[in-house]
Amino acid sequence: MAYIKVNNDKVTPDIAKKLIDLCPFNAFEYTDMYLSINASCKICKMCVKKGPDGVCELVESVKPCVDKTKYKGIAVYVEQRNNVAHPVSWELIGKAKELSKVTQEPVYAIVIGSDVKHMVEEALAYGVDRVFAYEHEAYRDFDVQVYTNVVEQFFKTHQNNVILFGSTPQGRSFAPRIAARLKTGLTADCTMLDIKPDGDLLQIRPAFGGNIMAKINTPNHRPQLATIRYKMFNLPEKVSPFGQVSYEETHAINHARKTKLIQTTDKPKVKDISEAEVIIAVGRAFRKEKDLELIQPLVQKLNAEVACTRPLIENGWFDAKHQIGLSGRTVKPKLIINLGISGAVQYIEGMKEAELIISVNQDEHNKLFDISHYSIVGNIYDVLPELNKLIDQIWKVNA
Ligand SMILES: Cc1cc2nc3c(=O)[nH]c(=O)nc-3n(C[C@H](O)[C@H](O)[C@H](O)COP(=O)(O)OP(=O)(O)OC[C@H]3O[C@@H](n4cnc5c(N)ncnc54)[C@H](O)[C@@H]3O)c2cc1C
Repeated sequence: MAYIKVNNDKVTPDIAKKLIDLCPFNAFEYTDMYLSINASCKICKMCVKKGPDGVCELVESVKPCVDKTKYKGIAVYVEQRNNVAHPVSWELIGKAKELSKVTQEPVYAIVIGSDVKHMVEEALAYGVDRVFAYEHEAYRDFDVQVYTNVVEQFFKTHQNNVILFGSTPQGRSFAPRIAARLKTGLTADCTMLDIKPDGDLLQIRPAFGGNIMAKINTPNHRPQLATIRYKMFNLPEKVSPFGQVSYEETHAINHARKTKLIQTTDKPKVKDISEAEVIIAVGRAFRKEKDLELIQPLVQKLNAEVACTRPLIENGWFDAKHQIGLSGRTVKPKLIINLGISGAVQYIEGMKEAELIISVNQDEHNKLFDISHYSIVGNIYDVLPELNKLIDQIWKVNA
């Protein structure tokens, strides 16, 4: 990365003042006769071009180069709790297999636990080339420090190119620690992944409140780390296992814990819209909370879960667990019916993978219509009773 170097031997108090006045970002600081540049510098080069000659210069730093040919393998961390794998891990294996076709790299699964055999078998059934299993009593429960030591050992031994994690509470706490330990970058909450033939991972995610899709890569460091939300990718087909399994040495890994797990209590299971097969999603078109009763016949007949856009959470009409979107849940139901929703990018990112999308909106230019399989232009207060009647008729015919 380039930076601006200040040649302090040429700086006088007058010159310092001139540069401070010149900089549009207030990036100069002059203390104890020393002129420095702070983090506000945007490298606009104004000081180089318009400042006193030779005081500021642009240094195009030499990129630290990594020998990319030394790092091979797209690894997926198989997240588990009570020795049950989180399905996001299998979705990531599916994506890793797609990426590996571009780079001709093997796909690895990293399984850590106290009883890993069935997870190893499951990973093989999803078609990984090799499973690296770390089995030890110390890995029964997730401990971020101990698990970081394991993944550090994995990377140091196997020098792989990419490690993918689910954007789950565990993955969100774990992946940044690994990035810090291995002195590499991490892109959190990716919604898409791609890869260049040289192995550079393109980590794609919405940025600036969803106004742009940022393509982030890590060309000078390995491994490349990314977390990806559950339900962003499809579960791969199971195959006849062909991969190898390596039960890795664990004796050299530091198992000391700084925290002691005294007790775990499972939260009461609540229905999660991420798992729903049918969703009725409601938006700001509903004028009053009471009007939501209009959707009840549909909800019951279709055995649907109700979800909503963010404004309805802000109104206090729903618990935050019902929100679809970037700051809510990602859903991938068989059917979603959007009722009076504008289709802001933050919403669409959370539901665009649904198998069948039906949208109702009075605005014929509604953005959701572009991704919907069926679009109904109309007022929800007129369309809903008609939809209810239609479902009733279908119900009777099928009864
Ligand atoms: C950082 C950030 C994160 C965000 N995250 C999320 C998120 O995760 N999820 C989310 O949902 N939003 C999120 N938002 C908010 C998002 O930008 C939108 O403001 C929000 O999705 C709009 O909700 P809406 O479509 O219900 O409301 P509106 O935008 O007000 O749209 C209402 C729609 O209803 C239609 N309509 C009105 N009356 C009727 C009627 N009688 N019949 C039929 N159609 C009608 C209108 O034509 C319009 O299309 C986020 C915003 C930011 C800045």
